[in-house]
Amino acid sequence: MRLSQFHLATVKEVPAEAELVSHKLMLRAGMIRKLAAGLYTWSPLGLRVLRKVETVVREEMDRAGAIEMLMPTIQPRELWEETGRWEKFGGQLLKIADRKAQEFCYAPTAEEVITDFARQELKSYKQLPVNFYQIQTKFRDEIRPRFGVMRAREFLMKDAYSFHLGQESLAQTYQAMYDAYGRIFTRLGLKFRAVQADTGAIGGNASHEFQVIAESGEDAIAFSDGSDYAANVEKAEALAPTVARPAPSIPLVRVDTPRQKTIDDVSAFLKVSPQQCVKTLLLKGREGLVALCLRGDHEINEVKAGKLAELPGESVLASEEEILAAVGARPGSLGPVGLPDHIPVIVDRSAAVLADFVCGGNLDGTHYTGANWERDARVTRIEDIRQVVAGDPSPDGRGTLQLARGIEVGHVFQLGAKYAEALNATVLDDQGKAQVMLMGCYGIGVSRIVAAAIEQRHDDAGIRWPEAMAPWRVAVCMINPKGLPEVTAAAEALYAQLAERGIEVVFDDRGLRPGSMFADMELIGIPHRVVVSERGVAAGTLEYRARDEADSRQLGIDELFALLA
Ligand code: ATP
Ligand code: MG
Ligand code: MG
Ligand code: MG
Repeated sequence: MRLSQFHLATVKEVPAEAELVSHKLMLRAGMIRKLAAGLYTWSPLGLRVLRKVETVVREEMDRAGAIEMLMPTIQPRELWEETGRWEKFGGQLLKIADRKAQEFCYAPTAEEVITDFARQELKSYKQLPVNFYQIQTKFRDEIRPRFGVMRAREFLMKDAYSFHLGQESLAQTYQAMYDAYGRIFTRLGLKFRAVQADTGAIGGNASHEFQVIAESGEDAIAFSDGSDYAANVEKAEALAPTVARPAPSIPLVRVDTPRQKTIDDVSAFLKVSPQQCVKTLLLKGREGLVALCLRGDHEINEVKAGKLAELPGESVLASEEEILAAVGARPGSLGPVGLPDHIPVIVDRSAAVLADFVCGGNLDGTHYTGANWERDARVTRIEDIRQVVAGDPSPDGRGTLQLARGIEVGHVFQLGAKYAEALNATVLDDQGKAQVMLMGCYGIGVSRIVAAAIEQRHDDAGIRWPEAMAPWRVAVCMINPKGLPEVTAAAEALYAQLAERGIEVVFDDRGLRPGSMFADMELIGIPHRVVVSERGVAAGTLEYRARDEADSRQLGIDELFALLA
């Protein structure tokens, strides 16, 4: 690729709206552009990286025996009624109606559709086991879309679904997927950990999340310092309930009498529009100040809000239970709809947990969803989690639990009979008897991986792609201010030779000054850079620098090819 023919659109300024380094760098490198909250356009550069991830995922899924297919992103309501999830899925489900008033949702996942496919296509145990997958866009109306493509609303997921007669077969495919995931994340050059996850409401026998280790991660994982045990914190807590420990306390600093502050006050204070106030709560949450605007119109909740305002003192310690007690609510029953307008409370950063807790599943002020509530009510600060499980004995009895932060990039799950039963997906067994199939499901956040990789691999100059994800492996930078034909010829020849060898190469023929050219190549993270200049051509050498090395060195062309082989 010649850069003069490509659309590269890097920017120097650090975008104000981005908090995470990956979000900043993806914007600065011009990989993504925001269309609306949680919706991103992938530029030609960004798409090259996304496709790289997709390729590795596809190759390893194929190698593990899964079969690719493609399902629609628009799914009919009736199917979701059959599993009961039309109601239960909650606010993340984007519901749409067509011109005939038929209702649909935009796929947040595809258990219903694949099980419907399976009940029609699979008739005999002889067709099992089978593992179908797709790499397809999903939409989840996330409460807080943020961090760019890390938590987007529209995103690219690889989702696979396996069908079985019997638990043994399910366990086998589950293991095959677990192994494939290990290969995928290893090939992508990520530091990751597979952790046990809760099977929660769905039940089932086993579930693991694949977490990319990063301080900025939204998940917390617990692992043993004396064994291979690793679990996400919910699971670790569930397994180690016998250890007596105090409930985490949450300091709440009240800056003013909450009732005297209006949303307008808060919006002026934070310099955002009143409409943005509620969102601002969480965007600012990591930086320090958190403004919590509670909006709603429910009568009964006047009372609850009043009670919240009566929490004593300038600064109080309040646990989850204390707050629930203070506002007279049952666990899971609090939401912003439940609180009246004009009750912003300003709390400090350490109260982010409280903010999550009171706001629950709703930040747009339009609806409250119980399904999301529980998740967001969780203790999310690493300090609090430390109090909860760190230092506890590992559930396997070997070592003590340590904590780390992670980004969930993959999730494997033994679903068991749940969906096949609801949709009556059966096959005939060898006795000619109808049997409900067992299922597994296996997800990978393809687009999230791009951001997660940057979280792990960057420096002050920009992204440091692992080879498998780089938009191009090599950049040929031509420095030729005098327009010397021998320099142009040497750069062209090198470009052609690299391409001939099947090495992905980008030729920077834009005629920029060396500083700008190098800054761009470092920002977009090209692993290898070769400079062709008048001096080098005269000396018969190439100036080479690896993205991860501080200095450049002179190489002969054969040495370069050997290095890139
Ligand atoms: P999270 O806990 O981060 O909300 P999840 O557990 O809801 O993720 P799954 O239902 O397990 O997600 O979906 C499979 C994978 O899809 C996840 O492991 C993650 O990598 C990716 N994913 C989920 N939600 C998003 C999102 N909003 N933006 C980008 N990727 C996502
Ligand atoms: Mg989620
Ligand atoms: Mg999750
Ligand atoms: Mg998950």
